[in-house]
Amino acid sequence: MTTSSSHAQLRGQIVKALSGYYYVRPDGAASDSVSIQCRGRGILKKKGLTPLVGDHVLYSLTENGEGMVDELLPRSSELIRPQVANVDLAILVFSVTEPALNLQLLDKFLLHIEHAGIEAVLCLSKQDLEESGSESEEAKESAASVHRIYEPIGYEVYGTSSRRGSGIDALHKRLQGHVAVFAGQSGVGKSSLLNAIVPGLTLETNEISNRLGRGKHTTRHVELIDIGGGLVADTPGFSQLDFEELGIEDLGYCFRDMRELAPQCKFRGCTHTHEPSCAVLAAVADGRLAASRHENYVLFLAEMKEKKRRY
Ligand code: GDP
Ligand code: ZN
Repeated sequence: MTTSSSHAQLRGQIVKALSGYYYVRPDGAASDSVSIQCRGRGILKKKGLTPLVGDHVLYSLTENGEGMVDELLPRSSELIRPQVANVDLAILVFSVTEPALNLQLLDKFLLHIEHAGIEAVLCLSKQDLEESGSESEEAKESAASVHRIYEPIGYEVYGTSSRRGSGIDALHKRLQGHVAVFAGQSGVGKSSLLNAIVPGLTLETNEISNRLGRGKHTTRHVELIDIGGGLVADTPGFSQLDFEELGIEDLGYCFRDMRELAPQCKFRGCTHTHEPSCAVLAAVADGRLAASRHENYVLFLAEMKEKKRRY
């Protein structure tokens, strides 16, 4: 007999952590139901376990409708920024213009998402600016290039306009059943998208102080927002895109189009930069692999080597 057998063991997920409390959403609860304010059982600390937002837990009810987190269930992933467990989907947001599409930055975000082992979906925001706006031609071209480069290598591309409310339902549907983070540079419209997806949500959306786009040095408490059938972190993911956590040998692997080709390279450990009989270089030469993808790979490789040399 275990000590906790007198309590009914319930299952839930931590959606917020604040001042020593964990807010647990009971499994199967309606999206608008109140989460249960819990303390962590002392045994967790003794075992060196720190409950994270996103953790699936076993908990029991105590007095006053409060509860106690008894046990953490195994995590499928653990993201550092924001610190959330069990994230399994990243929505990588890029605006077709304002700010202008930057494929190098897009590849860098993808690199980090792939490295974290999380599924990535691309979202092209502000599509209304393709029809109106001073940069409409550039915007159209940007959108076309993202579809052309990324769809053939297996990334889904969603188009949205929070201003017009278009594409929002499809993205909402895609989030079902997931714990997701939105990623992308400041100002691309991440907060606006979340506000459009979740009725009643009012994240601030200006460049100076919005929750999702807030500067990287501000620490704040992450919260999982229930979007009805899925959870989304209210803080953007992958805000710091340095190569610290990444090894040079990981780089080729994180470019999924190169990962597929690499086994056909003549030399094991091929860096796909100058080697003879390199399947990646061959694919770039005959247009099967987007030149921009390879260029960005070479650029990141040089950056990583430079960093290694300096330290
Ligand atoms: P975040 O920093 O990625 O969270 O971006 P915000 O959601 O704060 O949006 C940044 C700016 O882009 C704000 O001025 C928004 O009004 C504007 N914006 C957001 N979504 C759209 C959109 O769909 N169309 C247009 N034209 N502007 C948008
Ligand atoms: Zn190669």
